Amino acid sequence: DEEKKTIFYNCSFVPLDDKRLVFIAEHLDSDTSMQQIVQRLNRQVKMFQVESESAKKIARNKQTEVDAIAAQADELSNMDVLTFLPNRRMIVKALKDEIMRVKRYAAPFSISVVDVDNFKKVNDVYGHLVGDEVLKHVAYQLQDHTSNPDLVGRYGGEEFLILLPSTDASEAAEQAARLCRFVRESQVSVNAQLLKVTISIGVAQYVPGIDTWDTLLNRADAAMFDAKKKGRDRWSVAK
Ligand code: GH3
Ligand code: MG
Ligand code: MG
Repeated sequence: DEEKKTIFYNCSFVPLDDKRLVFIAEHLDSDTSMQQIVQRLNRQVKMFQVESESAKKIARNKQTEVDAIAAQADELSNMDVLTFLPNRRMIVKALKDEIMRVKRYAAPFSISVVDVDNFKKVNDVYGHLVGDEVLKHVAYQLQDHTSNPDLVGRYGGEEFLILLPSTDASEAAEQAARLCRFVRESQVSVNAQLLKVTISIGVAQYVPGIDTWDTLLNRADAAMFDAKKKGRDRWSVAK
């Protein structure tokens, strides 16, 4: 029984000047010494816990940083970098979401497809960079003359899509007429030159129970081509 007993030593090394160490092993046999060892171990465990808490905290902060960067990246991938408008991905997602919403609440909902007239000619005559400036200008006009909850996005190269929640076709047509006028009456100034552009707009109102997001888009697109056929710089409403 006596042999199985663990024997404790309090050990320490004391360095000497000539690189030698003195090893001191102090035999511990009293209960108070044991308690001291246990207390010291407990302190070490606590210190370790505090350290790992701060490590966890650093990890949490890093995670927050990573999340913020991911959110920024996501925002960038939803945004068109030329016009700073929502890009095709985002505007189509918003269109799908709005259709889910109107299905539930049975409110009217319309969309407008906007296309810049004779835009190829702008590129051909003035160059692609001027073309880009014209696109930025049109985007700005559309954004500036629409208001919440209407949402303007860049749907394609020189095409924009406007979502008009709680709006019927005749109200959407009024907005389309205003937008055509604002763009027609504005001027783009690039390299000390003043350019003028016009737009054509196709309006379509969502038909409950019949339209899906893509049939609605197709009808608005067809209406826009109708406006082009009739001479451009105008709007048309889908049947
Ligand atoms: P329409 O009145 O029938 O719409 O004629 P359009 O010339 O505008 O139509 P078309 O589709 O023939 O030309 C669109 C042009 O838009 C072709 C393409 O080179 C140009 N385009 C598309 N995206 C961009 C862009 O990001 N920047 C510039 N500068 N041009 C673009
Ligand atoms: Mg086009
Ligand atoms: Mg065009």
